[in-house]
This record gives sequence, C-alpha cells and structure tokens, in this order.
Amino acid sequence: PDVSKFENNIVTSPYGDCELHDMTMVQKVFESASRWPNKIAMECGITGRKYSYEMMRQLIRRFGSALTRMGYKKGEVFAIISPNIPEFPIALYGASGAGMPVSLVNPTYTAEEMARQMTVVGATALFGVAPMAETLKQVARLCPTIRHLILLGPPQEGAVAFQQMAQDSGDLFNENLDINVKEDVFLLPHSSGTSGLPKNVILTNFNMSSNVMQFLQPGATNHQFATDNFQDTYVCLLPFFHTYGITIILNTGIQTGAKLVTLPQFDVQSYFKAIDEHKPTAMHIVPPLASLLIQYPALKLESFSRAHTVFCGAAPMSAQTTVDLLERLNVPDLSFQEGYGLSETSPGVMMSPLGNVKLGSCGAPIPWTKAKVVDHEISDHALGPYQQGELYASGPQIMKGYLNNATATEEMIDEEGWLRTGDVAYYDEGGNFYIVDRLKELIKVKGFQVAPAELEDILASHPAVAEAAVIGIPDVQAGELPRAYVVKKPGMESVSDAEIRAFVDSKVSAHKQIKGGIEFRSAIPKNNMGKVLRRELRAQYAEENK
Ligand code: AMP
Repeated sequence: PDVSKFENNIVTSPYGDCELHDMTMVQKVFESASRWPNKIAMECGITGRKYSYEMMRQLIRRFGSALTRMGYKKGEVFAIISPNIPEFPIALYGASGAGMPVSLVNPTYTAEEMARQMTVVGATALFGVAPMAETLKQVARLCPTIRHLILLGPPQEGAVAFQQMAQDSGDLFNENLDINVKEDVFLLPHSSGTSGLPKNVILTNFNMSSNVMQFLQPGATNHQFATDNFQDTYVCLLPFFHTYGITIILNTGIQTGAKLVTLPQFDVQSYFKAIDEHKPTAMHIVPPLASLLIQYPALKLESFSRAHTVFCGAAPMSAQTTVDLLERLNVPDLSFQEGYGLSETSPGVMMSPLGNVKLGSCGAPIPWTKAKVVDHEISDHALGPYQQGELYASGPQIMKGYLNNATATEEMIDEEGWLRTGDVAYYDEGGNFYIVDRLKELIKVKGFQVAPAELEDILASHPAVAEAAVIGIPDVQAGELPRAYVVKKPGMESVSDAEIRAFVDSKVSAHKQIKGGIEFRSAIPKNNMGKVLRRELRAQYAEENK
C-alpha cells in the first residue's frame, strides 16, 4: 500500500477505497452459501459436528422461520448467550433474518450479570446451550420479557429445543425482509465506552458489512476466497460475543468461504489439538495467546505449515512478543498484522500493512477510515506526527450510538461524526499509529472489558465500604488486572481486604475479579467536580512499583 496521507493532520487510509454494500448481512451470508455450497463452513473442534455452507443456509432459514412462527416480530431483541459453537451463525442469522436485533452476551458472566444486560436490552428470546441450562433458566426468570429459552441439546422442560426449530419448513423466512441497513439495529455488543457502566452498542448491517469489506480490501490482508483447491481455515477460540470474534473471525471467514473450527472454551490441550488437526491458515490471537504460543512446550511446527498470517488485536502487543512469536513459529513469509479497534467501531479501525511490520504499531486506518490525534490541553486541534493526544476515528464502521442512551452517544461521537476512542496515541511520518495509554476508565483483562464503575458499585454495596475507586494495573499474563482503593466506614476498621474481595469476586465473572488487590485509604483523590482521579491512582501505583 501507499503511505497514509495527511492533510490538516487528518490521516487517511493507505489501502485505497474498498467496495461498500447496502445488502443485509443475511443476504451476504446467503451469497457466500450459494458460492461455496458444499464447503464446510462450521465445525466443532471438540465433537466434529459440522455444517456445509448450504446446510448452514437451510438451517438459518428454518430457525428464522420458526421464530416468526413462535410469534416474534421485527425489532424484538434476540439474545445469544453461548460459547463458540457451529450453530452460532445459525441462531444469529436466523434471528437477524426474522428482523430481530441480536444482543451478544459473555457466557462466562454470572446469571445476575447476564440478567442485567438482558433487562436493559429488553430481550424477548434467549439462545444458549444445554450445559448452561440452569444459569439460563435463572436469567429467564430474572428477566420477564424473555418469552422463550431456546437450547441446543437434548429436549428439556422449560425450553424450546434448537433441533425442533431445525425441523421447521423454513417457509416463513424472507431474506429480503425490509431492513434499513443504515438505521435498523443488527447487533448489540456490550461495551462500557469511555466511562460508566457497560452499555449496548448499536451496530447496523452497514457497519458490519463495511468492516468486513474494509478487511477484505485486496492487498490489505492475505485472505483468499475459497477455490476447488483452497480454503482458509481458522481455529475460532476468541469469543464470537466480542466484535473481534464476530467481525474479524466469523463474518470475514464466512465472506471468504473459510472453514471455521469452533472451540467452546479456553483449554490449552484442545486449542493445540485443534491447531494440530486443522492446520489453520490464519491465526487470530490476543497478546496473552501470543505468550502461550511462545511458551507452549509441545508446539508442533508442522501445524503452522499452512499459516499465512497471524492477526493480533484487542490489547497492546509488545514489540518483543511479536519478535519472539514470529521466531518461534518459524514459518517463511508468515505475515504479522496487528489490528486496533473498539466494539463501538465494529471493531476495526487500524491494521498494520502487509510486509511492513513496524513493531509496536497497530497500523494505519483501514479503507474509508480517517483518524486524528486531538490535543485536549489547548484547543482540541488535530496534532501532527509524533505528538500524543486522544485518538479520534471516523468511517462507515462507526456505531450508530448506544441503545437508549443519547447522553453517552453524544459524549462519544461529535457533530462531525468523529468517535472519541478514549485512547492516547501518536502517529509517525508514515501515518502508522501507536497506542500509548488510555484516557478512559476501561480496564482490559486478557482482552476482555472490565468497567471500573461496575466494580465500584458492587464495592459500595458492601456494608463496610464508604467509597471505592478501581483502576487497571499492568500484569504480564493478563495485560491488566483490576485493583481497588477503598475507604472504610467509621467503626469498620477490622474488616479485611480478603473479606471485601471475596464479597466482590462472588458476584462477578472471573475476568472482573479484583486480582490486582485492594488497598485501604483514608481518602480517594478527586478533582474539584468530585470526579475520581484514576490517572493519579495509576501514577501512584506505578511509582510505588517501579
Ligand atoms: P473493546 O471495545 O472491548 O474492543 O475494547 C476497545 C479498547 O481495547 C480500545 O479502545 C483500546 O483501549 C484497546 N485496544 C484494542 N486494540 C488495541 C491495540 N491493538 N493496541 C492497544 N490497545 C488496543
């Protein structure tokens, strides 16, 4: 690619313009199915259960038709709380084809966390897997708008069996349903944005299809469309409930006729078994997986013999880890590409160009995407190369907004359509970006979001806690870990950190637990508006742990 160009300190894409479509994602998936009917689309890496593209299309029709027969109408929210399984796109596109926005939920959440998200989006149907039946039934009880729980697995009381819906004739499905691709809600991933509690991000069909096309721009990646003799193969460990999984892995894969081997949970043995068996052509990783690949003693180099690309994203990857990984995999001509983005941007914003690895850089804006670095100290003007400020991005992949939250949307997207990322960045003279810090509250543990506000609310509900603030501290394994600063109520001095930690940890999923510890303070630093000075806490921690 050319180098990025910048005029008035606005950096444009070096990748050229890609095609953008006004089709729905269902139409795009069906187009792939008609191109590669007999290729395997989805396969379970544990059981070997698999579907060809044509089988997947048939089942999408039947599942969506069954939802319409069950009384679901356009606009009612469908929720998926499922690990990565071959049926994931069947539920997603079946519901989407029935006109239902799809809410994506982390299946490792506790029932209360799930129910909170379900209540906010007003979910009406819930899809999941039988091993999670008890948790999902509890969610359905806590969230009375849910009319049906749909489970993959043996039929059981209180749930509709996926298999039964798969028998539907499919005649009520209309893949040309009247959908406004730029306005109607396609997907509702969960993200806390720059501050506060997790919110529901509205992504439209156009956001999603644009982001897929941006990644498939010829020359930008090594993706190849399937042919008689070639099919890209991905081992899908990173979760489909996150935009990285659903856009960059699942949807990009389906658009190229790839075979997607799903793994329902992280387990080192089954991950490497799937890699050894399927020999992926592209590896999608996050920094902690890079460390695992580097350190895993039983790594079989021949398992990477077909690999053309390693993609890494969701969190910063150190230059040294990249070098060590490429050295360890030892595949000639293997491309390394780092991507940068947010749930609010579908997620892709930046990607490093092929054959031009700038270690530590997350690359340049993808097609149709503009980026600028804004200085808030003086006048919100766009900064030139090598100057640090807040990164802003614009493009067709920018979310429509947060569901039912105009205030948060206005804080995030300005009148000109620029999205504030909340990340601190700079770019070099070639327009390659480097993420250096985060202004926003968000903590990322192994690439998963943790919203400090959520933990602070739980901490504040403990009887001994007068005030609490949570920050992320660096951790070699996880990237970051949540750490709490707590002011105890008078007379509660004897309450221990272990007791408060156990209280919080029992209420949240594993990645949100306060593994960075609790420190008691007599006061929490705040500005004169009463806003917690998290940067001060982070700086103090860094100073104490130099
Ligand atoms: P999420 O919405 O969960 O995808 O989280 C988005 C945030 O993850 C971004 O705002 C960044 O703080 C961080 N992030 C994503 N990709 C990268 C990257 N390549 N380098 C550094 N931080 C990243």
